[in-house]
Amino acid sequence: MPAEIISGKDLAAELKGQMKAEVSKLNDNGISPQLTVILVGNNPASKSYVKGKKKACNETGIDSEVIELSSSITENELLQKIEALNQNDSVHGILVQLPLPEHIREQKVIDAISPDKDVDGFHPVNIGRMMTGTDTFLPCTPYGIITMLKSKNIPLKGKHAVIIGRSNIVGKPVGQLLLNEDATVTYCHSKTENLKKYTQQADILIAAAGKAHFVNEGHIKEGAAVIDVGINRMENGKLTGDVDFEKVKEKASYITPVPGGVGPMTIAMLLKNTIKSAKGLDPLEG
Ligand code: NAD
Repeated sequence: MPAEIISGKDLAAELKGQMKAEVSKLNDNGISPQLTVILVGNNPASKSYVKGKKKACNETGIDSEVIELSSSITENELLQKIEALNQNDSVHGILVQLPLPEHIREQKVIDAISPDKDVDGFHPVNIGRMMTGTDTFLPCTPYGIITMLKSKNIPLKGKHAVIIGRSNIVGKPVGQLLLNEDATVTYCHSKTENLKKYTQQADILIAAAGKAHFVNEGHIKEGAAVIDVGINRMENGKLTGDVDFEKVKEKASYITPVPGGVGPMTIAMLLKNTIKSAKGLDPLEG
């Protein structure tokens, strides 16, 4: 039987409906959740991601502002802008769209965002909280992946989750979140020898290598749940994932499409984190 498709698009739409009602209630209590996005330079992909985030804010009633800065801005000037936003009480979430121009150190910029407004969940303090299983702003893509798995009640406890990719924004944190859910986690990466040996054991396979159709039916175990994080642009301009969807769906139990899978969930989780921040929760108290 072909796999059940987990539509991130549909789940994100459902969550946005719930968040819209929540934002309206907050508005009634005089709270207006606000996200500020900083976009440096003219990278077309970054521009399109920022546009998507702004649109999603509009749909849920979250106030949003995009600050567009020239790629010639100095690191110091950018840090000063961030500090002003840290001090501005009407701003609940700050997101600096990555990548940044080469002369600006990304980690320095991430470190400058107040952990209490770090709705991307990239600040080392929030990563530390995630690792210790303390309530915090979870990084949006891994948070979206876990939410998709849970939406289908896919068993995680004691199951073997294999991650292809070990980046700081996807691979490493999604493995940590699966570990927090009592899965047994294996990380694979570009230096892994005999990748299939690991992927064929996976009950849950997360593909985040950024290589089009890299995962095929030979990589997976019958009945595995396959989450495709990859976003790759093909020669015809269309987007595709890391997984050969048509072939793998015949063998998997669940599969996510690209587009319409993890991407929309990443944005939904950003909104969720912004609302969490606006509610003024102490992340340590949950
Ligand atoms: P990255 O380039 O930082 O990391 C890629 C990882 O894949 C690395 O850890 C590398 O070791 C591993 N890798 C590369 N080739 C491999 C191979 N042959 N075998 C095993 N491992 C290999 O990328 P990233 O930022 O983690 O993003 C990964 C993909 O996910 C990209 O396509 C990116 O566009 C996409 N992405 C999607 C979303 C979303 O919202 N859907 C969010 C972030 C990233």
